[in-house]
Amino acid sequence: MHNYCSNCLLPTSKPFIKFDKYGKCSACIFHEKKNSNRKNKINWIKRKKEFEKLITKIQKRKAPYYDVCVPVSGGKDSITQVSHLLNKGLRILAINIDYGIKTEIGHHNLSCISKMGANLITYRPDLKLHKKILKISFLKFGDPDLMSHCMLHALPIRIAIELKVPMILLGENAALEYSGSKSINEKKMSKQWFENYASNSGMTPIKFSKLFKIPYKKLKMYDLPTALELKKIEAVFCSYYFKWSSENNFKIAKTFGFKSLRKNTEGTYRSYVGIDEKINRVHQYLKLLKFGYGRATDHACEDVRNNKISRKKAIELVKKYDRVKLSNYFINDFIKFINIDLKTFNITLEKYKNKKIWQRNKKKLIKIKEIK
Ligand SMILES: [Zn+2]
Repeated sequence: MHNYCSNCLLPTSKPFIKFDKYGKCSACIFHEKKNSNRKNKINWIKRKKEFEKLITKIQKRKAPYYDVCVPVSGGKDSITQVSHLLNKGLRILAINIDYGIKTEIGHHNLSCISKMGANLITYRPDLKLHKKILKISFLKFGDPDLMSHCMLHALPIRIAIELKVPMILLGENAALEYSGSKSINEKKMSKQWFENYASNSGMTPIKFSKLFKIPYKKLKMYDLPTALELKKIEAVFCSYYFKWSSENNFKIAKTFGFKSLRKNTEGTYRSYVGIDEKINRVHQYLKLLKFGYGRATDHACEDVRNNKISRKKAIELVKKYDRVKLSNYFINDFIKFINIDLKTFNITLEKYKNKKIWQRNKKKLIKIKEIK
């Protein structure tokens, strides 16, 4: 049996990924659909027109405060999302969630949003509760971002509905872009999408609340509104209307003042991803331990699909960057933030290291079935 996609390097251990009879993964198949000019493939001109039509419809709604919301981290993607809405006479409200661990460059990049023609609000969750949630998520699920990820998707939609904003422009549809899932609505956010792709490990805020005895009313902002409430808003993915590409988004964001690091981000060879806060690096490292692929794999796969590098070069990059040890720069702040000691941190990493993927070796990560 094959262990990696025959075109890119995604492993069979990636959740939700599927392969065709030639060993090609569903993310690669979706990519071809996105980029090919053949009939029955995605018609981007038509999609853009559909977007313009939606905007006209939204403007006619004469909302009381804002016409459209955009969830923003200050990353290249969110700046690009906002850019698609500019110069249309729209009142844009960008919503950012700040968990208190933003980097300096993250603060700078977020400030670009209000300079480009959007209003910006930053929501700071109750850190007493949020740190408790992070700690449980890390220790019990090996994923510190478990509930943060839910909040990131749910809270901006809830705020938008409360403010009677008729539309929210979400980022990429991760289900399609990275897993090539066919069973979900490609245009709109849904309960099914949220439960599969926002709540990893199937752990929804309701389940989390019951399991760890945190009153659900305190977790409501982490959870998607009901289907009935969702009907009040056009919660659409930007990647449905515009061809999603990290590199293009980076180019667009730069024109609005977005800054990247001088060197590569730890765990990959790119310099412009995951730079706005620190916990994501811990999340990415755990993803590597659990499923056998990290950030460099994500990026190398994208570059292979775009014919920027060969599969052979991609393997080299993955071996060089994916398995780089998590540095103290991230560990120290993380353990201080959630109040655990280094020993507990290391034991937890070891607990989530997938023994079917990684060989026993204390110093280095060595794969049992190396990428070929
Ligand atoms: Zn693939």
